[in-house]
Amino acid sequence: MNIDAPARMPVLFLGHGSPLNALAKNDYTELLTKLGKSLPVPKAILCISAHWTTQGTWVTHMKKPKTIHDFFGFPDELFAIQYPAPGSPELAEKICQEIAETKIELDDSHWGLDHGTWSVLRHVYPEPKIPVVQLSLDMTKSASFHYSMGERLGKLRDQGVLIIGSGNIVHNLRRLEWDTNALPRPWALEFDQWVKQKINVRDFGSLTRDMNQVESERLSVPTAEHYYPLLYTIGAASQEDIVKHVYEGIQNASISMRCIQFG
Ligand code: ZN
Repeated sequence: MNIDAPARMPVLFLGHGSPLNALAKNDYTELLTKLGKSLPVPKAILCISAHWTTQGTWVTHMKKPKTIHDFFGFPDELFAIQYPAPGSPELAEKICQEIAETKIELDDSHWGLDHGTWSVLRHVYPEPKIPVVQLSLDMTKSASFHYSMGERLGKLRDQGVLIIGSGNIVHNLRRLEWDTNALPRPWALEFDQWVKQKINVRDFGSLTRDMNQVESERLSVPTAEHYYPLLYTIGAASQEDIVKHVYEGIQNASISMRCIQFG
């Protein structure tokens, strides 16, 4: 074994919830900070955020991605946050080459790091030193496409890349309560636990479809963009990975903050 080879990196699915978690200090943000200290230091981070939805698949290719404040109606303090991590044009190009079956477009100016990425990374890696690249979600594609993208990206784990899916397993803004600690909706708990159980028995096939068969699915995944990042992470996971549900809980009654580490 080449002792210079980087360690195989784990894969993370991180629930992000309200942008206010970027400023908060709670058991969830404390877990993220603890997680960052426990992981091997990655050479680069590839983040698939719920908040970059596109036609076609895009990857950020700039050397200095801007911090995007893609929300409104929140305090000025949140808009003042910067996460000036460098980009990695090399990693973006490598992704294009290695996933040759799908055309991936290089983005040199449009996107950057949205709050799905920086609101979690500022807790996991408070020092924004590790290069970060974002990959978009092509919303014209099916759940199985997103899963297979994750499978193909999984090889980057052996090259020191930390793959993070940032979304929420349950994400229903119409049913939320403003109180972070409001009692969880029964259907939110039901779906969150069902996903946990499917992950634990590695029944990924049950998770790789449109979530519209029963009421708890329809209410938990009213739109797919917060769910799809999970499919990238289970796609990039391998059989031998130990699965750890490093955080579980429901915020605002209808947002699952479940965070999962594979490997
Ligand atoms: Zn979000």
